Amino acid sequence: MNYFSTRDVSLKVSSAEAIVKGLSGDGGLFCPESIPKLTDEDKSFLLNAPYKKRAAFILGKFLSDFSSEELEFFADKAYNTEKFDTEAIAPVRMLDNKLGVLELWHGPTSAFKDMALQMLPYLLSASLKKTGEKRLASILVATSGDTGKAALEGFADVPGTKIAVFYPKDGVSKIQERQMTTQSGDNVYVSSVVGNFDDVQSAMKAIFSDEEIRAKASDNGCIFSSANSINWGRAVPQIAYYVSGYFDMLKSGAISESDEINVCVPTGNFGNILAAFYAKEMGIPIKKFICASNSNNVLTDFFRTGKYDKCREFHVTTSPAMDILISSNLERLIFNLSGNDDKTVKKYMAKLQSDGAYTVSSEIFEKISALFYGGCCSDEETLKTISNVYSEHNYLIDTHTAVGVNVYNKYVAETGDDAATLLASTASPFKFADSVLSALGIDIESGGEELLKILSKTTGQKIPAPLASIFEKEERFLNTAVRDELPDVVLRFTEGTV
Ligand SMILES: *Cc1c(COP(=O)(O)O)cnc(C)c1O
Repeated sequence: MNYFSTRDVSLKVSSAEAIVKGLSGDGGLFCPESIPKLTDEDKSFLLNAPYKKRAAFILGKFLSDFSSEELEFFADKAYNTEKFDTEAIAPVRMLDNKLGVLELWHGPTSAFKDMALQMLPYLLSASLKKTGEKRLASILVATSGDTGKAALEGFADVPGTKIAVFYPKDGVSKIQERQMTTQSGDNVYVSSVVGNFDDVQSAMKAIFSDEEIRAKASDNGCIFSSANSINWGRAVPQIAYYVSGYFDMLKSGAISESDEINVCVPTGNFGNILAAFYAKEMGIPIKKFICASNSNNVLTDFFRTGKYDKCREFHVTTSPAMDILISSNLERLIFNLSGNDDKTVKKYMAKLQSDGAYTVSSEIFEKISALFYGGCCSDEETLKTISNVYSEHNYLIDTHTAVGVNVYNKYVAETGDDAATLLASTASPFKFADSVLSALGIDIESGGEELLKILSKTTGQKIPAPLASIFEKEERFLNTAVRDELPDVVLRFTEGTV
């Protein structure tokens, strides 16, 4: 199967090339030429298969450059009990007889990014071989927290790759910072940067598109690559867990074969919820996608009006991984729902660039409204939801998941639709222990390890082992750079001299 750019369908690449390139040369995102459909035989296989077999199977439907042996080997390496703290990998926990929580945070960094970033390094290094690339893939990551650590953990000591992660100095939580500064591996580098996330991200983008820097990096035997959520190699592993969650619900009897489900996803860059959309296109019976935002509610407005308008105040919230005003992966949804109309997508994206806003046609908007519901939730509501869910179900959720639960409740109240719903739970509550504790009415001054211990003591739940261990490990990376130094730091990283 080939992939084409959302902005020019004449630009076609193989699945391996799409993964190596990350982004199409014209600025578009790679999308599959067609979406494979699950047959009845496929479905009965998936119903009874363990997680890693389900994942390898779904990957195989999209990534035609890879053999099933290869993909099964990768899935075996990525999704096992050395990496994940449960054999189920992504278990569904039914909170009542309608709402199933798909726990996506049992991996090494306690956030859902692991589900894709444990797999991506295998896909990328194999793709480099398949495309004849001899240079070392140098992954550059700008992160607001979760992606950086998950990418480090995924790429650490993977042959043929090295990885440098840059985060805003005062823009990540203490726990997130410590997770990154204690990272082990011989091919990793981490530095904080003075400034906010946008500063770091735009500096990285500038480096990516600077011909001179690329040429020098190439002289050092390196080719830049990216692990961010627009890479198709991150999208496919995410489709797998929606398929898996559906079959888990079916298998447990929570739903029957004739039932359609809804899916609710706390959303930032639109990567996670887009994967659920592809699962529906493959044949998983999903009726409605409930897109949950925090007070950065661009998407809520978009799903209600058809106008995407990023010109608004940026809010720093208690669900920081969703503090985003440009949801890049939305481009893929619009491409699909417009019938792969590259000209229209290109026009909208140019408008977004020039005016900060675009409005989709009434035809596209009709399709979008039939499938998507957008809702949002304030910080105050987020904390209230954590405390409600805890007292009603004795179940602890993190701030991002709480945004999902809050918007799910609003959806049910507004529409009366009581279909069984699969809700993506995107982080362990321990990862955002400060907010979770304050939701439980405990406000403390101290940061870091103390918070984890108090949360564990208060709730009787165990601190996830990878989070507990970061306070025993030594901090390896205490570098801070200013923005102007970054090109030099990156080049020294490619030389191996930082
Ligand atoms: C990245 C992240 C999100 C947002 O996911 P998108 O794919 O960007 O929509 C939500 N919650 C957590 C905890 C995350 O790390």
